[in-house]
Amino acid sequence: MSHAARQKLLEVYGYHTFRAGQEEIVDSLMEGRDNLVIMPTGGGKSLCYQLPAMLLPHLTIVISPLIALMEDQVAALLQLGAKAGTLHSGKSYEEKMVIESAINEGSLKMLYIAPETMLQERMISYLKDKKISLIAIDEAHCVSVWGNDFRPEYTALKKLKEVFPGTPWVALTATADKATQDEMLNKLGLENPNITLSSFERENITITCLPGQKRVDQIKRFILTKEGQSGIVYCLSRKSTEKMSAKLTEIGIKAAYYHAGMDALSRSRIQERFQNDEIDVICATIAFGMGIDKSNVRYVIHFNLPKNVESYYQEIGRAGRDGLPSEALLFYSWADVMQLRRFIDEGEAAAEFKKVQHSKLDRIWDLVSSFSCRTNFILNYFGEYRSKTCKHCDNCLQPPESFDGKVIAQKALSAIARCNQSASLSQIMDVLKGSYKEDIRALGFTEVKTFGAGRDLSYPEWREYITQLVNLGLVSIDYTMNSHLNLTPLSKEVLTGDVPVSLFAFQKKKAAPVKIKKVIDLEDDLFEILRKWRAGQARKQGIPAYTILHDKTLKELSSVKPTRIELLTEIDGIGKAKKEKYGAAIVEMIANYKK
Ligand code: ADP
Repeated sequence: MSHAARQKLLEVYGYHTFRAGQEEIVDSLMEGRDNLVIMPTGGGKSLCYQLPAMLLPHLTIVISPLIALMEDQVAALLQLGAKAGTLHSGKSYEEKMVIESAINEGSLKMLYIAPETMLQERMISYLKDKKISLIAIDEAHCVSVWGNDFRPEYTALKKLKEVFPGTPWVALTATADKATQDEMLNKLGLENPNITLSSFERENITITCLPGQKRVDQIKRFILTKEGQSGIVYCLSRKSTEKMSAKLTEIGIKAAYYHAGMDALSRSRIQERFQNDEIDVICATIAFGMGIDKSNVRYVIHFNLPKNVESYYQEIGRAGRDGLPSEALLFYSWADVMQLRRFIDEGEAAAEFKKVQHSKLDRIWDLVSSFSCRTNFILNYFGEYRSKTCKHCDNCLQPPESFDGKVIAQKALSAIARCNQSASLSQIMDVLKGSYKEDIRALGFTEVKTFGAGRDLSYPEWREYITQLVNLGLVSIDYTMNSHLNLTPLSKEVLTGDVPVSLFAFQKKKAAPVKIKKVIDLEDDLFEILRKWRAGQARKQGIPAYTILHDKTLKELSSVKPTRIELLTEIDGIGKAKKEKYGAAIVEMIANYKK
C-alpha cells in the first residue's frame, strides 16, 4: 500500500518524502484502523487523512470546527486537482446542490463539514446510506472541556460511530496534554486506535524570552529587520492591539489589528489580507487563532506573558508551518502576571478550575524565567521527557554563566527585611540604588541601613537577580498586598549564614540587532518576482496565496532556477495539477530573469 501512497504523494502534492509519522498513519487508515494523531502545528496532519481519502474508493467526511478553515483547506485541495467540497450555513442553495450531486454521483472524495451541520437529522439521513470510506475529526481537542477551544457539538460526534459502523476514524489535534488526549479517546469512542504522538519539538522555531522593558521599541526594532515577512504580535488587550498596530504603521510597516470586539466582516477582511500577504503584521488578541492556516508566518511575538504553556506553544506554532526558520519572541513582566491573576480571580470559573489556572500561570512564569533549555521545559511539560538540549532557544544559543551571588542575595534580602516586608519590587530597587524618590522618602526607606547598598548594579540587573531569588524560593511576592516582597523560610539561612547562592549572570539581551546594510541577494530578487506573481494569482482567483505555492517552493525555485517544465517535478510542492496550471508561467519568469 505504501507504494501507492508514495506515488500519490509525489503526483498530487509534489512531495518527495513523508514527514515523521505520516506514512504509518496513512497505512494504518488504509487497513481500516481508527487513529489518534497528535502532532504539533505544522507537523503535516492534513495529509494524513487527505492522502487516504484520495486512495480509498468512497467519500471521506472531514469534521472541522471553523468555516474559514474548511474553505482554505478546500481551496488548497482544488489547487491540487483533488475533488473536495464543503457544506456549511454560508453556502447558497445552488452551491449545496452542486456538492450534493457530486456526492450522489460518487465523484466527491472529501466533504468538509462543521460538527453542527453533520449532526443535523437531515444530514445524517442523507449521508446514512452513502458509502463512507473514512471519517476525519480535525481539531479533535475541541471535545475537551479542559482546553480553550471546547465545542459542545464535538462531544455528540460519537453517535456517528453507530451511523457509519465499520468506517475508520482519524482524530487529529496539536494539543498535547495528557488529560485532553484521554478525553479525545473516550468522548469520540475510538476503537483500539493506533496512536501517533509525534515529537512536539519545532526545530525551525527559535524561542527567545525577554524582560518586557521598552517592549514597543524592541518590537519595532525587531520587525524592521523583517521587511516584507509575515508576523503576528499577540497582545493581552484589545486596546493594546490597536496601539501596537498604530505604532508599527507610523514607521512604515504594513500592520493591522484584530480582536473579538470588531465585527465579523472587518475581521474576515483583515484575515484575508494577511493570508494574501497584503498585510505583513497582525497585532491581535488570542481571538486570532485557530483559523490561521498561513504557512509562511516568520515570527510570532508575545507582547505579554501568555496565560499558560499550552496557549503559548499553540500560538508560536503558527510560525514556520512551511518548515523554514522562524522566530518566537516573548516579553514578560510581573505586571503581566498580576493582570493575568486578576483575570483568573475575576472570571466565572469554579474554584477548582481557578486553582488549576493559577498553577498553570506559575508554570509559564517558570518557563520565561528559566536559564536552561526552554524547548526541554516545554516538552517535559507536555510529558515528552528528555534532557538533550535543543540548540534553538536563547538559553541554548547564549548559555548564561552562573556565579556565587551570595552578596547580591544578602543585600536584597536585607533591604526587604529592613523595609518591613512592605515594599514592592520597584521600591526595593530604589532603596538598593539609593534613590530619593518621593514615595521612598515618604515611607522613611531612605533611613534604612541598606539604602544605597546596591549602587554597583543597574536597575535591570537588580530586577533580574531579584526575579532569580524569587525562583530560588528566597523571596516571595504577596500578590494580595500590592505585590510586596516578603522573606521566606529559606531566606534566613542566606541572610545570616555562609551558604552560596548560585545566580546566572545578567545578560543584556536585545530582540535583534538592526540590520543596516541590506545584502543584495539575487535569489531574493527572483523570489520577490515569484511572490508578486503569486499574489496576483491569489487575487485573481480569490484564494490565499499559499494555496497556490508555498514560500518554501518559491525559495527552491529561486535557488534551482529550472527553465523547463519537466524539471519542475524535482521541486518540492509542485504536483501534477500545479505543474499543468502554473508550470509554463513559472519557467517563463525564470527564463526571463536569467536573461
Ligand atoms: P498541521 O495541520 O499539522 O498544522 P499542515 O497539514 O497544514 O500541518 O501541514 C503543514 C505544512 O507542511 C503544509 O504546508 C503542508 O503542505 C506541508 N507538508 C505536509 N506534509 C509534507 C511532506 N511530506 N513534505 C513536505 N511538506 C509537507
